Order: sequence, then structure tokens, then C-alpha cells
Amino acid sequence: MHLKSLTLRGFKSFASATTLRFEPGITCVVGPNGSGKSNVVDALSWVMGEQGAKSLRGGKMEDVIFAGTTGRSPLGRAEVSLTIDNSDGALPIDYSEVTLTRIMFRNGGSEYQLNGDTCRLLDLQELLSDSGIGREMHVIVGQGQLDSVLHADPMGRRAFIEEAAGVLKHRKRKEKALRK
Ligand code: ATP
Ligand code: MG
Repeated sequence: MHLKSLTLRGFKSFASATTLRFEPGITCVVGPNGSGKSNVVDALSWVMGEQGAKSLRGGKMEDVIFAGTTGRSPLGRAEVSLTIDNSDGALPIDYSEVTLTRIMFRNGGSEYQLNGDTCRLLDLQELLSDSGIGREMHVIVGQGQLDSVLHADPMGRRAFIEEAAGVLKHRKRKEKALRK
């Protein structure tokens, strides 16, 4: 399984449709400060279902929609599509290529799609979590996150190890069940 392409439309600084294609192996994104490198990573987390505005470096979710510049008016919607090569069947779905799409409107409405068909956020999350790239997995290591691993106290370090071992999600489910 590898990422094939990512298309941004009206997402953060990417007002016009922009597609990045990835080959198997390592991809580097280079560019001057403020040119949108981190916005590309934000788009990846967002299309995979990220719900926290802070994790996307914004104050509210609406901040992912192109806010306009001196020469260009703000847009009313943001859309990101991620195409994943699934020829090894790592994602439990009967397609060799899977495209996830997330759309958000300024009035708050949003939509998720799986290979072009509307789906629920839950469908998308479940599809990804079975393959180890779910929302709470550390697939995206942000700036400063390495520091927090190195400086974690013993309980914090244990949480990282439990997550890597796949135990944390069961513990969280158990805690949730006990609270009910
Ligand atoms: P650095 O090298 O400093 O980390 P970077 O390439 O990672 O820079 P980003 O943080 O991805 O840069 O991009 C920041 C730019 O994106 C800023 O110019 C900011 O104004 C712009 N930006 C962020 N959100 C929006 C938005 N909703 N609409 C328009 N522009 C936006
Ligand atoms: Mg950056």
C-alpha cells in the first residue's frame, strides 16, 4: 500500500486545484517558509478524518478553507482527495485503488466520499484503522512530537508503547465502557 496522489481544492493556501503525485519510496517536499509544505501534511490528516482544528494548526475547522489573499477572494468550500494504491489489499476493501474525499463548506456542512460514493466519517475511520493508519496512530509525526516522546514521563512513555503495540485502542474502549 502506498499513497498515489493528493489533490487539494480550496484547502488553506491551495486556492486552485493542485495535485501532488507520489511514487513508492520517500517523497520530499521542499520550498521557502510559508509556501505551504505543512499545509500539504495538514491536508493529508484532514482527508483521513482529523477532527481537531488545533491538530490542523487552526483555531476553528473553517480555517482550512482558502481565506483569500489581496488578489483573490475567499472560497466557500475546501476539498481534498487522497488516492491510495491498494493492490496488496492492505485496506479491507475490494478495490486496488481507493480514493478518499472530504469536502467542507463554509456554512459548516461537510461530506465524505469513498471512491466517489458518499459515506460516513465512521466508514472512512474504520477502513483506515484496520490498516494501521487510523486517526490516533502516529502515522504523521509533527514537529515537536519527537521531543514529547523523549521527554515523556514513564506513564507517557508507556502510552506510546501501548499505542505502537495496538493495545491502547482496546484500553480506551474498555475505559469508555466502564464509564457508561
Ligand atoms: P515553513 O517552512 O515555515 O514551515 P510551510 O511551507 O510549512 O512553511 P505552511 O505553514 O504550510 O508553510 O503555509 C503557511 C501559509 O499558508 C501562510 O502564508 C498562510 O497564510 C497560508 N494559509 C494558511 N491557511 C490559509 C487559508 N485558510 N487561506 C489562505 N491561506 C492560508
Ligand atoms: Mg512548515
